[in-house]
Amino acid sequence: MDCLKCKDLSGALESRHTQYVEARSSAYYHVSTELAAKKNVDMERARYDLQEHRAVCASYAERKLLG
Ligand SMILES: [Zn+2]
Repeated sequence: MDCLKCKDLSGALESRHTQYVEARSSAYYHVSTELAAKKNVDMERARYDLQEHRAVCASYAERKLLG
């Protein structure tokens, strides 16, 4: 059974990661250093949210058991 919240949170993490990579690879590196740092914080927060949810998500636990 798929959990919508898991899907939402991992989608959010994925897009934060994309934004972080884009900020880091920006041509305007002197401008983007601070931006990349902010994106990194956003990404870590999204990762934390996902982990927090997975810790209490029955659907995720079940999927992990099934492999
Ligand atoms: Zn879930």
